Amino acid sequence: MIFEQIRHGGCLSYLIGCEVTRHAVAVDPELDEVDRYLALAAEKGLHIRRIVDTHTHADHFTAARELGRQLGVPIVMHRRSPAPFVDLRIEDGDTLIVGELRLRVRATPGHTDDSVSLVLPDRVLTGDTLLIGGTGRTDLPTGDPGALHDSLFNGLLRLPDELLVFPAHDYKGRSHSTLGAEKASNPRLQRPERDAFVALMRGLDLAMPQHLTEALRTNRAGGKTVKQLIAEAARQIAFMSMDEVAEHLGRAAPDLVLLDVRERDAFRASHLPGARNIPRGELELRANSELPDPTARIVTYCQLGKISTLAAHTLRTMGYLRTVALDGGFDAWVKANGALAQG
Ligand code: FE
Repeated sequence: MIFEQIRHGGCLSYLIGCEVTRHAVAVDPELDEVDRYLALAAEKGLHIRRIVDTHTHADHFTAARELGRQLGVPIVMHRRSPAPFVDLRIEDGDTLIVGELRLRVRATPGHTDDSVSLVLPDRVLTGDTLLIGGTGRTDLPTGDPGALHDSLFNGLLRLPDELLVFPAHDYKGRSHSTLGAEKASNPRLQRPERDAFVALMRGLDLAMPQHLTEALRTNRAGGKTVKQLIAEAARQIAFMSMDEVAEHLGRAAPDLVLLDVRERDAFRASHLPGARNIPRGELELRANSELPDPTARIVTYCQLGKISTLAAHTLRTMGYLRTVALDGGFDAWVKANGALAQG
């Protein structure tokens, strides 16, 4: 077996491959790491044939959909997952075949109602059900401390002590543990009584994860985050440096259209000399009448250089094929002592 753990901050994801057939499965991939999974699979000579999310993540963005689309492979989740893009819905007792490897599916609800653990002969991927020295929280949507108790004490903890535990999170840089070690020292596992466990979980006062609602909405519905849209747009356009723009502005007859896509008030307060203003939200409506020349060299800019990327991409899809975005936003322009105009 080829077994790779990929860390992204406190999130752990996995690439598990069969040495004989080179088939592999990616487990809990993270959106920011898509290229890394692909590179790692290529480096190891593996073909990712499936993507498994152990549960609906509330704290990071799943790459399942993006990877699934790029590779044309099915996305696997528990049948209770709300995500419409799941291709293969699994349940307790199912076996996933990856080349000559067998991954046994254990439904382990509690952290979420769609949580699963994946059992291999010498190890178990526990998702957020069992963490090193902890457990997944049960206070987020579909969490249930009683169900988590049963998943642990009547489920995972009955597996052999020597099984290695590979969780979906660890914020202290640890890669794995064993079931025996967790039984012996995990503070959440010291009281097997259901009531005591539920009280313990209910008593935890945990901060809400960053991006909770956006992550849940995206992971459940398969929508795209603004960050993701900007990253996609950035791959599909070219940029113009601030030096190049300054050089154009110094010419007797500048042959580019500077397009400020910020809101009107920001534009009036200060903008690049000669710039026109069409706020990003009005671009599709106003472009045809206000930018009559589709062959013009258009340079979009915004405050931080992100929204302008989307604007440039939008204009390109509308047929303005020479549109580029300023590399850096208005703030960077001001900081670099670029020329300004008002009104
Ligand atoms: Fe989670």
